[in-house]
Amino acid sequence: MKNNNHFEKGNFKTLVETDGEDRIQDRLNIIDVFLGTEEHVTIEEMCILLSKKGYEYEGEFVRKCMNRMADLGFAQKKQFKDQPIRYEHRHLGRHHDHFICTKCGKIVEFADREMELVQARIAASHGFHMLQHRMEIYGLCSECLAQRKPLIPLALAKPGERVLIKEMAGGKGSLSRLSSMGLRLGDQIEIINNTGKGRIILGHDNMRLAIGRSIAQKIVVSVADKEAPD
Ligand SMILES: [Zn+2]
Ligand SMILES: [Zn+2]
Ligand SMILES: [Zn+2]
Repeated sequence: MKNNNHFEKGNFKTLVETDGEDRIQDRLNIIDVFLGTEEHVTIEEMCILLSKKGYEYEGEFVRKCMNRMADLGFAQKKQFKDQPIRYEHRHLGRHHDHFICTKCGKIVEFADREMELVQARIAASHGFHMLQHRMEIYGLCSECLAQRKPLIPLALAKPGERVLIKEMAGGKGSLSRLSSMGLRLGDQIEIINNTGKGRIILGHDNMRLAIGRSIAQKIVVSVADKEAPD
């Protein structure tokens, strides 16, 4: 897409000039730097990229300019769960979706024609005419997955994950504590919510359980290979 950048920049210049905007050259520097990155950038990251090129602009001006680019169809504004607002290129006629790593925040793009057709077909079967959609798949990127040890404390398991209870640290007393919650070694549980602080919500059989973080540190689990169905 690099060779297209010159054309996009010219197109943007015409539109902002027609709108009578000020600081045209500054805006062109911003779109230039933006088109030069393939990342999904925050305003802060844009300011860093600009500053590397020797442009020092106020964050507010960069934000306004990026929002203008989004209005005019050069950028797309995205907000993934638990992340700040990001901007990415908007290539006319092309569409992609995203994997988002819940551990390191990495964003990976994918495009799958078959899945696009399936979505349109499902929508149509509900009498729904699909105009646009976004598909975001949250999970662990390949690097984060590779770094993970096979056995982890329950406190580190991620929402959506199914794990097996392998060990209970802390001696006999803690084992009986486990069974008082209706859990046993070898049980499979599903992590419903784990924000990294406070209680962890689990699914076990047809029950939801809330487990304190200190006990969740003691429950050692292995990550099952199978993914959660949703
Ligand atoms: Zn899609
Ligand atoms: Zn990651
Ligand atoms: Zn993207």
